[in-house]
Amino acid sequence: MASKYGDFYPSKWGFPKAVVEGNAPSPKQFMPDYLDDPSFYEKGWHAENIGDGGNFYWVTSPAGYDAGFVVTGDGVIVIDAPPGLGENMQSAIRSVTREPVTHVVYSHWHSDHIGAASQFGPNVKIVAHDITRELLARFPDKHRPLPTETFSTDATLEVGGTKLELSYKGADHCPGNIYIYGPAQKVLTKIDIVSPGSVTFAHADVSENISGFYQAHDDILSYDFKALIGGHISRWGTREDVEVVREYWHDLLGFAEEALWEMSNAEALQGFVVGLGRQNQMVGAENWINSIANYATEKTLTKTTSNGQTWPERLAGATVWTKYHAWTVAETTRTERTHYGYQAEGNGGPAYIA
Ligand SMILES: [Zn+2]
Repeated sequence: MASKYGDFYPSKWGFPKAVVEGNAPSPKQFMPDYLDDPSFYEKGWHAENIGDGGNFYWVTSPAGYDAGFVVTGDGVIVIDAPPGLGENMQSAIRSVTREPVTHVVYSHWHSDHIGAASQFGPNVKIVAHDITRELLARFPDKHRPLPTETFSTDATLEVGGTKLELSYKGADHCPGNIYIYGPAQKVLTKIDIVSPGSVTFAHADVSENISGFYQAHDDILSYDFKALIGGHISRWGTREDVEVVREYWHDLLGFAEEALWEMSNAEALQGFVVGLGRQNQMVGAENWINSIANYATEKTLTKTTSNGQTWPERLAGATVWTKYHAWTVAETTRTERTHYGYQAEGNGGPAYIA
């Protein structure tokens, strides 16, 4: 059925409409069979037992949000409560156990991943990082009850003999985003870094600290895991999934740095504003930063990668989201990494000024 806005809202000053032609379809590995099963959309959830031990579950929803739970024998530990999964999390839990939910672990403070936590009532223990509590106290939300137990670097949550190791390694997607690891099951939960099988959502999944986002890929791989719960979008992940996207991000970073050297030196910068007049410098500034993003996008998407395929052949969303990732990676290379514009006294002329 056509919506009020049709299939796009155009604006003279906005983004162009994306079309199927010219974009690559998602590779098959990104499209598990359950996506073609109508009962998935009727039920609103799909769960799979993951890792070793038989008591750790991954749950996903038609909205493309996923979470986890562990049946401990002495209550259920829920990991995240995305509103897009909502109370269907309880249906998923009831499909395998009658044990009550006794604990909820918040991966991070974002409401799209924990904004249905209130459904578990006032008597559950809620475990999160100190920063998550601080942010939720600062920006209160009735659907995200305050954590009852917090930690700063490492903590162990033990319920009914099931152990989860919680760890905070610093800001990445956002401050307070933690690692949740079941050593017996070899299941790792780390949300909003790797969306297995895809390049993830725009702007490095709207991450705040891009250096931390890069570091998180290495930190994920430092765990001995068989299954990764990443928070999105169609399936849980393997080590290989993480290694593949890590390679993608490093290709993109390399080309973003190359683009900055190419286009941020004094001569190249002049080219973007020449003839515009001082009152139109912002037009040139937009063309400058977008040209950097386009350079990195083009080089990344046309590169033959380590297995002989291109990124659009290996990862879903590559032709769609890479330009946004390139923009973010280039821009944060200027703000988070060593800056080459260090100006000597007088007209020392660094090669790279913006
Ligand atoms: Zn998030």
